Amino acid sequence: MGKQKLVFASANPGKIRELHELLDPIGFEVRSQAQYNIESVDETAFTFVENALLKARHATKISGLPAIADDSGLEVDALNGAPGLYSARHAQRHNAGTGDVANYEYLLKQLEQVHGEQDRSARFRSVLVYLQHEHDPSPLIAQGTWEGYILNEPAGVGGFGYDPVFCNHDTQSAAALLDKQTKNKLSHRGKAVAQLVQLLMKTS
Ligand code: IMP
Repeated sequence: MGKQKLVFASANPGKIRELHELLDPIGFEVRSQAQYNIESVDETAFTFVENALLKARHATKISGLPAIADDSGLEVDALNGAPGLYSARHAQRHNAGTGDVANYEYLLKQLEQVHGEQDRSARFRSVLVYLQHEHDPSPLIAQGTWEGYILNEPAGVGGFGYDPVFCNHDTQSAAALLDKQTKNKLSHRGKAVAQLVQLLMKTS
């Protein structure tokens, strides 16, 4: 039997690469939304799960394939959970530039007066949804978190997003210093994918 085709509702190259690395070895052919000329939808909801549903529904509607979407973010306790849902546009929302480097530099600036691992505690969160088709009334929903703290300065060049400034408790190193297998095994997204695969196996 061939691989099960899925469209992954994301335009983020880092996420697309990780979803591919996680799902390809276990029999899923992950296609990106760009392959179907699917534009990103506005993430207008107030929860990760609702945003993920918006993205997945749009992608399955246009592609005609089952769709997975990830809505994720970094929650910093000293900032009451910010940037959270708005992690991708954190700097932009504060007129401090756009992109991954601007985002984490702005975060480091916000935390300049916050010292010590405990006070700089943070976690990544990933919520994954799977929709069989546009009108699927019972989406599969999985989530994972990855605990750690925000470093004082960036380290490493791997991964994407806030990885250079996120020190994870599992390895006590920046996520951007990990090889991709290690990040995928430990990360919020790796845990959410493992949970989603369990749900998929139960329902198929
Ligand atoms: P969204 O899910 O498209 O709203 O974007 C999630 C944002 O959270 C990304 O653009 C990153 O800034 C951040 N993020 C999510 N997962 C990771 C990760 O694994 N490493 C680093 N940053 C992440």
